[in-house]
Amino acid sequence: MKNNRRGDMGLLIFIILAILMMTVISPFFLGTSNNNVATQEVTLGQLTGLLKEGKIKALTIVSNSRAIAEALDGTQYVTEIDLIAEDRLLAAADASPVSVDIKVQQERTSIWVAILNSWLPTIILILFFMFMFRQTSSGGNQVFSFTRSKARLYMEDKPSVTFKDVAGAEEAKKDLLEIVDFLKNPRKYQLIGAKIPKGVLLVGPPGVGKTLMAKAVAGEAGVPFFSVSGSEFVEMFVGVGAARVRDLFEQARRYAPCIVFIDEIDAVGRERGAGIGGGHDEREQTLNQLLVEMDGFDPYAGIIVLAATNRPDILDSALLRPGRFDRKVVLDLPDVQGRKHILQIHMRGKPISNDVDVERLAKITPGFSGADLANLVNEAALLAARKNKHYIEMAEFEEAVERVMLGPQRGRTLSQEEKNITAYHEIGHAICTAVLDDAREIHKISIVPRGVAGGYVFGSMAEEKMMYKREELIREIAVLLGGRAAEETFLHTQTTGAQNDLERATDIARRMVVEWGMSDLGPITLEERQEMVFLGREIARHRNYSEATAQLIDKKVSEILNEAYEKAKQVLEERAEKVHEIATRLLEVETLTGEEFLQLLSEG
Ligand code: ADP
Ligand code: MG
Ligand code: ZN
Repeated sequence: MKNNRRGDMGLLIFIILAILMMTVISPFFLGTSNNNVATQEVTLGQLTGLLKEGKIKALTIVSNSRAIAEALDGTQYVTEIDLIAEDRLLAAADASPVSVDIKVQQERTSIWVAILNSWLPTIILILFFMFMFRQTSSGGNQVFSFTRSKARLYMEDKPSVTFKDVAGAEEAKKDLLEIVDFLKNPRKYQLIGAKIPKGVLLVGPPGVGKTLMAKAVAGEAGVPFFSVSGSEFVEMFVGVGAARVRDLFEQARRYAPCIVFIDEIDAVGRERGAGIGGGHDEREQTLNQLLVEMDGFDPYAGIIVLAATNRPDILDSALLRPGRFDRKVVLDLPDVQGRKHILQIHMRGKPISNDVDVERLAKITPGFSGADLANLVNEAALLAARKNKHYIEMAEFEEAVERVMLGPQRGRTLSQEEKNITAYHEIGHAICTAVLDDAREIHKISIVPRGVAGGYVFGSMAEEKMMYKREELIREIAVLLGGRAAEETFLHTQTTGAQNDLERATDIARRMVVEWGMSDLGPITLEERQEMVFLGREIARHRNYSEATAQLIDKKVSEILNEAYEKAKQVLEERAEKVHEIATRLLEVETLTGEEFLQLLSEG
């Protein structure tokens, strides 16, 4: 082991020396020119000023590195630039009263110098850490490997996205309007001594437009938008995340007023020392740096930090303290009206046929996020293109809804027997729906496999309600069990195809007993579930009852399931002839529209 370590040390010193040598020597290989002209370092602001005054005749931009300007009197001005500064300079050159000869080039220095310039400090740092790690690690013979992924700092100067491009989030927009106004005119707020939040947390499930909204705030205010994702910080080498945060805010200070957007902040900002993956050193350092930066900047500096998360419940409370992310703006899944607007936004500029009923599309897509709806419009366009249509028609949109919901139609076909069972199963669902729940529309019954489903009944679901009556829940369970009831009643068999139905039915029945006090165990809550906000996934149940009660609960749950099952069976048995008739028809055509189905059901 000792030898090994000494070898490392030798190697380390060798590498460092080699690097130093190259840095010293390499400038001699670079043809340096223009040594005879007076060159003056200026700031970006000075250079734009000179351009606008018409004092510059030629401008050479070396992309993302520096700009060299030649004045009318022959003086050379040099300034460091990045991509945003580049745009500003070009705009200033456009505004110049004299014509400016503009050249834009990529950096064309020796590759070694380029690498050394940008990587030298990092390489030395990494080697140093590697060395330290070797020294301290007990084994000594383990291979030390790491991936170094730089968090990508994304910048956009004055994004073109505005509030007009974000639909159905009126509350959120209203909350953010103040921020926009502040960014447009920080002085106004400073003079009057009004306090402006430094940090705003955008909270909501995936795909509701958090990123879009953050960008729209920058777009509305006409300020630069810096963004970085929390998940990229945490993969990094110790210390690098914190350095990146420092970089980020340094940039932001240069371009203020501006927006700094931190996506997936929960990745860095998870409660310290708690839960899964707690005590991650790197994450903690990164988080600390973030807190330091946020406390550090002047509230009137014109930097607003927006952060997005779908897990506000797990954020470290330090992040939420006053002066940090003390504002919360909630973005929810859109309602019917919101969905309609989102669809309209994404249909803009596409050839949409007159037969497309946006209102109906909005109605049949409860639970769709903005991203799902954007995807839906795109799928419809793809389908239309595939059929060589010049317009996107309602048919494409309807198919797209099913695609987004259930996945594309599967190439594999069902065997004759599977088809038969699927037909009866789906008709079981459909008839129970039609008979028991007249508020629900049925749009389609199909035995063409799609996604993971063998067949499906495609209908409107009731919009999420604030509360449900016991009868409604029983009815819902009966509809879920309708498939299995049909299998048993008409084919005298049971299939695995009912698994998902059974799971959902059992879940409702169980909650009726333990949470909503809807059984003769009485009006009592026996379990509280803690749901992860927005994910709807349950993480813990608190059971506060004995083993004996547990058995009683199981009994009550199965009583409810049986009650609903009998109901479904009865509905189907009373319509046995209809069931056979509709099944025959469905097997012939494989897909029935809601109207055709209801027609068959009510006939005769
Ligand atoms: P999130 O960051 O919340 O996961 P995104 O902002 O990335 O969601 O949304 C993804 C895409 O979905 C957006 O680029 C946009 O096309 C669409 N979208 C989401 N919400 C909306 C909305 N409210 N209005 C218009 N488009 C939306
Ligand atoms: Mg996002
Ligand atoms: Zn089913």
